[in-house]
Amino acid sequence: MAVIVQKYGGTSVGSLEKIRRVARKIAGRHREGNRIAVVVSAMAGETDKLIRLARDLSERPDNREMDVLVSTGEQVAISLLAMALKDLGVPARSFLAHQIGIFTDNAYTKARITKIESDRINRALESGEIAVVAGFQGITEEREVTTLGRGGSDTSAVALAAVLKADVCEIYTDVDGVYTCDPNICNRARRLDRITYDEMLELASLGAKVLQTRAVEFAKKYHVPILIRSTFSDDGGTLTTTEDKDMEKEVVAGITYDRNEARITVLGVQDRPGVAANIFNALAEENINVDMIIQNTSTDGKSADLSFTVTKADYERTMDIVREKAPEFGARDVVGDTTIAKLSIVGVGMRSHAGVAARMFEALSKVGINITMISTSEIKISCVIDEKFLELGVRVLHETFALDNDGSGIVEEN
Ligand code: ADP
Ligand code: ASP
Ligand code: MG
Repeated sequence: MAVIVQKYGGTSVGSLEKIRRVARKIAGRHREGNRIAVVVSAMAGETDKLIRLARDLSERPDNREMDVLVSTGEQVAISLLAMALKDLGVPARSFLAHQIGIFTDNAYTKARITKIESDRINRALESGEIAVVAGFQGITEEREVTTLGRGGSDTSAVALAAVLKADVCEIYTDVDGVYTCDPNICNRARRLDRITYDEMLELASLGAKVLQTRAVEFAKKYHVPILIRSTFSDDGGTLTTTEDKDMEKEVVAGITYDRNEARITVLGVQDRPGVAANIFNALAEENINVDMIIQNTSTDGKSADLSFTVTKADYERTMDIVREKAPEFGARDVVGDTTIAKLSIVGVGMRSHAGVAARMFEALSKVGINITMISTSEIKISCVIDEKFLELGVRVLHETFALDNDGSGIVEEN
């Protein structure tokens, strides 16, 4: 008897008809004798709607109240799915985070799971019930409601799978697996049968929203196999796995992009120890994550320009903080740009192939795309470019690295 955690995303439960369909799918697996916990997101568009409500009411909605509000979307979805299961004669019970004990830290709107109590769910599973769990939400030790950041139900599911020692965590969504790039913007994208945890981690953190980054971190740490599948068809699927020799043959496994960042440049900061620490400590205290950072060397030995990126959601707050701090380190000005995009290539094969960055830069330059920031790791290269060239950039790189669905994707050894 297998223990299975399934997760259904917003589009999968986007209407009553879809909820009934999902219930039939779950009932089928239950009849096979499996113990099933199901994690559910809010119905499609509901979380956006709740966020809009808050923003229409208040210019800067309070984060604590925001979490009390946006966590309600999942409550609607779990109750409806449990009802649909019961209508099919399948025993089911819905659970909110506080009923199970899904504990998080207290970083409202982007909390991290710290502990999940398994007693209540295990009792439900042992009695043959399907546990239908609200994704995205948690509680702090002080019983405050938190949420895990956009796309957080993926993380709820994988963390639950780790705690229940599930055989597999199945992520059901509106695509039938992980592709070489977002199939909704690149029609030549190819589905990958397997992807390493490290590649998936990079793709997710660089913008491929098919899985939330934290979900992949949990999966890697606790060895949870994730199977990404379509809710609407039985074909395909992508399995996250540990790396093997075959996977290194492909230089680039996938391309991803992120339109969700903004760049802030602090002009003419004093070139002395402590300036960067001062700025970034102030941002860390406000729970603002900084992504790419570049500081040019000062030509006069006195002042330098410092550029970095944050999410668009954190942009206004970051500008306020940095503007306030600017006089402390003699900055001439603080300027922002919200029309940037980050384009990245990812692949474990980069470790063993030389010249990948040069090929990426050359391909972009050939079509006139200017690169304004670059960052690399062992298995990824990211470039910041003008947002309006993003789709062109994706297409060009897809072709350059032979990822199109008519190519093998395998590039000759250097
Ligand atoms: P859900 O609501 O089920 O959580 P999401 O919208 O969060 O679904 O994630 C699925 C979407 O991820 C797809 O519709 C697709 O547009 C997007 N996506 C981005 N990059 C990729 C990729 N490399 N492979 C597959 N899907 C991707
Ligand atoms: N409903 C939440 C969101 O829209 C969580 C999720 O879908 O995973 O971000
Ligand atoms: Mg999602």
